[in-house]
Amino acid sequence: MIMDCIFCKIANKEMKSDIIFENDSVVAFKDIHPKANFHILIVPKKHIESVDKLEENDKKLVGEMILTAKNIAKENNISGYKLVINVGRDGGQVVDHLHLHLLSGKPIELP
Ligand code: 5GP
Ligand code: ZN
Repeated sequence: MIMDCIFCKIANKEMKSDIIFENDSVVAFKDIHPKANFHILIVPKKHIESVDKLEENDKKLVGEMILTAKNIAKENNISGYKLVINVGRDGGQVVDHLHLHLLSGKPIELP
């Protein structure tokens, strides 16, 4: 846990958010400024700065993030969606804790 990381705080329930799913390794919650009608962020509980900082032993965790997105889409009867990961400032990443955007429903503005 990184003290001033907002997604670590959300994962640790030190900061309020609309959590819709969690298990031992990931947490999923509504984006505070949705870029589509349906916009969820899937976040590992472990602090990893970005895709750029992933290591070999994070493979299972990344799979867990994508499967969580698929399950959330299914549970919400969503048939088509986008999964987006921004990497680094030049890639549009604003929060430096790895997160997968699950977006569906028009309009979709890429985050
Ligand atoms: P990024 O641009 O880093 O890929 O996306 C960060 C996302 O986090 C943005 O879509 C933004 O709206 C969302 N976000 C930023 N701060 C908070 C917050 O405190 N709570 C929630 N639920 N979402 C946040
Ligand atoms: Zn963090």
